[in-house]
Order: sequence, then structure tokens, then C-alpha cells
Amino acid sequence: MGAIQQIFQRFGPEYLARFGEQIPAQHHKVIEAICQCRTEAYGSVCYQCEDCGHPHILPAACGNRHCPQCQHRKTQQWLERGLQRQLPGHHFMLTFTVPEPLRAFLRSHQELGYDALFAASSQAIKALVHDPRFLGADRAGFFGVLHT
Ligand SMILES: [Zn+2]
Ligand SMILES: [Zn+2]
Repeated sequence: MGAIQQIFQRFGPEYLARFGEQIPAQHHKVIEAICQCRTEAYGSVCYQCEDCGHPHILPAACGNRHCPQCQHRKTQQWLERGLQRQLPGHHFMLTFTVPEPLRAFLRSHQELGYDALFAASSQAIKALVHDPRFLGADRAGFFGVLHT
């Protein structure tokens, strides 16, 4: 059992009792999926073991794209592919955060809010790249990742 699953199983019910009516429906689905991943709530899967040759029956995974247990291998593959495509030169990470007074609005207007966040952050990067006090360059290569 993963640490995130343990946290959700332990504190999820109390969290949902307090905030359940305020959070998006999608969050309910994710919390449920993570709590029930590999618990037999999604059935079980029979594997033919390559080591001992015997079948092993294991609880099925939730498959939710937000579940760290299900997505760990995909995340590693994504990271390795990205590193192979990395261009020579300097790289660095910029983090844009949402000011606290806007967070409640963003939570209930995610599509609008995240679009605005990506638009504002990419405009800021382009402005700083062009500004001779910073890079003074023609163009920048960058991509954005939403980390919630
Ligand atoms: Zn085995
Ligand atoms: Zn899962």
C-alpha cells in the first residue's frame, strides 16, 4: 500500500465530511479510486509468474490517472523519454503559484482559471526572455505542467 493511499484512507472520510460538498465531483472519484486501488474493490487479476511458474492472484488496480500506485511506471517512462529528448544547453524550472485570495475561485472554475494561469505565465516568460535586462533573446523553449 502506498503512502498516499494510506493518507487518503485515514483522513479521506473526515476531509469529505468537512469539504465534500465544496470540492469538484472529479475529486470525489479520484479519492475513491486511490482508496480502493489494489483492495479487490475493482476485482482481481491472475498473473502467470515468470519466476516460479505458478499463477498469482492479485487485487486489480484502479487505473486512475491521478493514482500514484498506478502511474508510477508511466511517470518514470515519461521522465526517461523527456531526458532522451533534452536539448544541449542550460535548463531551469520556473514555478508560478496562484495567489491565496484567488485559490477558492480557481478551485471552482478550474478550466477558466488554469487557462488564465498558463496564458499569464507563458506571457511572463516571453517578456523576460525578450527583456535585455534578463536574457535579451529572440525566443525561449518552454513547456508548462500543471501541478495541483
Ligand atoms: Zn511466483
Ligand atoms: Zn490505482
